[in-house]
Amino acid sequence: MALKITEECIACGTCVDTCPLGAIAEAGDIYAISDDCTECRACVDSCPVSAIVD
Ligand code: SF4
Ligand code: SF4
Repeated sequence: MALKITEECIACGTCVDTCPLGAIAEAGDIYAISDDCTECRACVDSCPVSAIVD
């Protein structure tokens, strides 16, 4: 199951800098994870509002 960013996202941008593959980008009002994601999970703990989930 791919990781995804929920509507809890406050668009802080922290996860963008955490992802080694550049697989996270702005997508409207929140951020989204692209198919480039290898599910390394580095971004999960970086999110201050726990918006990145399985
Ligand atoms: S799980 Fe890893 S590769 Fe996927 S978006 Fe998060 S940091 Fe990037
Ligand atoms: S770290 Fe969390 S709140 Fe910040 S942009 Fe990423 S998913 Fe959204």
